[in-house]
Amino acid sequence: MLIHNFSAGPSILAPSVLDQSAAAIREFAGMGLSILEVSHRSAQFEAVVEETQSLIRELTGLDHSYDVLLLQGGASTQFFQIPHNFLGTMAAYTKTGTWASEAIKEAKGYGEVRVLASSEDRNFSYIPKGYQIPEEADYFHCTSNNTIFGTQMKSFPDCPVPLICDMSSDIFSRSLDFNKFDFIYAGAQKNMGPAGVTAVMLKKSMYERKVKGRHIPTMLDYEVHAKKGSMHNTPPVFAILVSMLNLRWVKENGGVAGMEKRNKEKSELLYNAIDKSSWFKGTAAVEDRSPMNACFVFQDENPDAEKKFENACAEAGISGIKGHRSVGGYRASMYNALPLESVQALVSVIETFA
Ligand SMILES: *Cc1c(COP(=O)(O)O)cnc(C)c1O
Repeated sequence: MLIHNFSAGPSILAPSVLDQSAAAIREFAGMGLSILEVSHRSAQFEAVVEETQSLIRELTGLDHSYDVLLLQGGASTQFFQIPHNFLGTMAAYTKTGTWASEAIKEAKGYGEVRVLASSEDRNFSYIPKGYQIPEEADYFHCTSNNTIFGTQMKSFPDCPVPLICDMSSDIFSRSLDFNKFDFIYAGAQKNMGPAGVTAVMLKKSMYERKVKGRHIPTMLDYEVHAKKGSMHNTPPVFAILVSMLNLRWVKENGGVAGMEKRNKEKSELLYNAIDKSSWFKGTAAVEDRSPMNACFVFQDENPDAEKKFENACAEAGISGIKGHRSVGGYRASMYNALPLESVQALVSVIETFA
């Protein structure tokens, strides 16, 4: 049976990307060896790193004042690596969900964290707006897409200090002025590739902002990773290869503008079905709805209907739509590689309830 993979992450990858990845496990770049057993210093693999970095640059339009790094430890490592490098006195954050809260928690180990705005009062169901970023902050940190609560920042504040953004769950999903940011990071496993690699794009001028007098372990030093071309130690070879193949797929399918169009079509289809239904309702504020993660619940508690809906989903091959425990209900993640047909399958199950 065809499975419709709405998983929040690790997420669906295009079949052609999986086919090429599988082939590379058998044999990579005509070397007679698997990608899993070649030297990361081989010319063939160095070409993979270079192409991955240049695809990231090309898709985001970042200019050469940025370095593109491929690191490990997931986005969660960035939660402490960023303040370790840059939080000397005080940093400003917005608290818009679970991941933003994690980032705040980690930063508190390094200095004062000023939470400028929070949507916790309504279970993170909206994006707070209209806050002022203090000029004395070492940086401002925000989360572009709140994966668990299904909200997305549609615009970004003008920022008098370095603007740092966790784009883990919507990178490469829409056109943005990426050059507005000083530091962007994303764990790969939502829209970029498999788990195991983290993309970091930072302005080279950030190196001058490293906290003076603080010891920075080599593995936490962005400047070292940049100088070594993300090859200071053994990089996650396979995760990088799959990311490269996936980024090629993004490019062949219209780049971020092409992805935005696909994602808009998919998410409008689903949100319209939820809004029309007399059984379901969306949980996120309409203006802040994420095209990536749509959260919805039954309007009234109804265990029988829930069971019926879940069975109907299972029968239709719909997988991964259980909501996160902090929201309940359902969450349909519609990352780049999810085809429109999968959303159509979910919509027809929802419509049988209408
Ligand atoms: C998934 C996710 C994370 C955590 O990523 P890891 O790579 O698992 O550490 C952080 N931020 C956001 C927005 C996420 O969606």
